Amino acid sequence: MRHGYLIDMDGVLYCGERAVPGAPAFIRELRTLRLPFCVLTNNSQRTRRDVAARLGRLGIEIDEEHVFTCAMATARFLARQKPGGTAFVIGEGGLLTALHQNGYTIVDRDPDYVVVGEGRTFNMELIEAAVRMIMRGAKLIATNLDPNCPTAHGIRPGCGAITAMLEAASGVRAFSVGKPSPIMMRAARKELGLRTEETAVIGDTMETDILGGVQLGYHTILVLSGSTRQHHLARYAYAPDRVAESVADLAAALERHPTLPLWKPSNNSRTTPHTSRTACGDSSGKSGRLKQRAANRSA
Ligand SMILES: [Mg+2]
Repeated sequence: MRHGYLIDMDGVLYCGERAVPGAPAFIRELRTLRLPFCVLTNNSQRTRRDVAARLGRLGIEIDEEHVFTCAMATARFLARQKPGGTAFVIGEGGLLTALHQNGYTIVDRDPDYVVVGEGRTFNMELIEAAVRMIMRGAKLIATNLDPNCPTAHGIRPGCGAITAMLEAASGVRAFSVGKPSPIMMRAARKELGLRTEETAVIGDTMETDILGGVQLGYHTILVLSGSTRQHHLARYAYAPDRVAESVADLAAALERHPTLPLWKPSNNSRTTPHTSRTACGDSSGKSGRLKQRAANRSA
């Protein structure tokens, strides 16, 4: 059976500045076997080339064609909704590049859309301008609604937090394109030329990766190397098809049965002992509840 994979990055391939043990081997195995795959990110800051280079520095070798970002998904979505439109952008290079590549013009007055991405450079002046544009009829688009992003030093406010400020001030709800929106998950599958039943999502977050996969009828594989622990699963009304300690287990499974999809039970025996934890964070606290709220909104 043909099989291909949509792979989350943070908490799956790396944690902060460290590759998850087994991640380079897993990607190498996918490439050797010529299995279709892409890495998915809800971070709109970087272009696909930047993302590929960043992974390369961690020893995870991919081409830029293997990268699919929420900035790309947003720009393609807007280009279909309103070809040749205009956007006022609160965001950085990855988002600006994707919009340009899809025929959009970046403007600072009367845009068709106010588009919000991740960034460290926004200020109140930009927020004020955006709110006025929204009140004059510009549509509010979020590249994603993640309330925060993990970093090596803890979390930082994410695109969802910036969007929440614009929503509160304008009274207008944003439309979000990033995970778990079906728009991004479907676009990534189509990019790989896969059918629904041939596609699996591999992720560490129930509220985005696994929920998005479940909603679209994809197979789902949760790895415990990121924000989710085994005992958290009882909280959710949906469950992944497979739970693995990390992608090291998946690399070993592919080595054993290269033609067997990773979600098949016979490819599912645990191979690495549950010893060292490479977890990035913990979704049991406040940030987890916030994530759950964001997920409920986009669901
Ligand atoms: Mg993740």
